[in-house]
Amino acid sequence: MSDGRALAREYLEQQRLLGGDPVVLSDGPAPASTPGSRPGSGRSSAVPAALTPGASPGKAQGLPPPGLSFDPPGGDLFATDPVAQARSLAAIAELVASCVKCRLCEGRAHTVPGEGPADARLVVVGEGPGRVEDETGRPFVGPAGELLTKILAAIELPRERVFICNIVKCRPPENRQPQYDEIAACVPYLFRQIELLKPQVILAMGGTAAQTLLNTKQALGALRNHVHRFRGIPVVVTYHPAALLRNPNWKKPTWDDVRIARRLIA
Ligand code: URA
Ligand code: SF4
Repeated sequence: MSDGRALAREYLEQQRLLGGDPVVLSDGPAPASTPGSRPGSGRSSAVPAALTPGASPGKAQGLPPPGLSFDPPGGDLFATDPVAQARSLAAIAELVASCVKCRLCEGRAHTVPGEGPADARLVVVGEGPGRVEDETGRPFVGPAGELLTKILAAIELPRERVFICNIVKCRPPENRQPQYDEIAACVPYLFRQIELLKPQVILAMGGTAAQTLLNTKQALGALRNHVHRFRGIPVVVTYHPAALLRNPNWKKPTWDDVRIARRLIA
């Protein structure tokens, strides 16, 4: 009969390779009653080095339950609206570049329509451009963007293979939250981008992205841990990387959410 701890270790390694939570088995001495314990090692606890909570096998592989579904009407072939008529991501970016549909156009240096390949399987949606994004016209290139780039690399999706964009395409003054009317004015661009991209998964980062894509006022905490749908496309909700920079306690849950998104990608 082989050592139970060795078996447990092997099982946990398998779970880790399958995407489960990392579980650390202590290398400390076995309980005092077990042969091979090292008396006098200074660790006299009788509690066996156990599996830490969260190691249940089902949890590692399963997806969270379904959540909300939002299905706004799509572009109509005969529409005269130029956004609905836009046939490419570049065409949308061009419309955004000259857009004056809301007051956010007044303070911008550059519009930030979003970037990434037309065949991206994952679309990441943030809130709105910050200072560096406004200066460069590129999404998520400031400090929050650097963190996002690392998060994507960790799930083996280099940011070059992901379409990255925001709910509003112009920077709100002092990085304040976009207001309801600004979101309402801007969101047709995003909806059309998603319609053209047809991604396998959408990752909504932060409350503004999640609430807009799911048409809800529910708080981020309640929206996490579900697989929602936007026009049938799975939507996974997580914290915004800027919030993570302020609160490192959210890194672990964010990591869990991002792995859920990864599992949904073929
Ligand atoms: N925060 C966002 O939500 N989007 C960006 O592009 C940058 C920071
Ligand atoms: Fe237009 Fe959107 Fe910029 Fe407002 S935020 S001006 S709607 S592109």
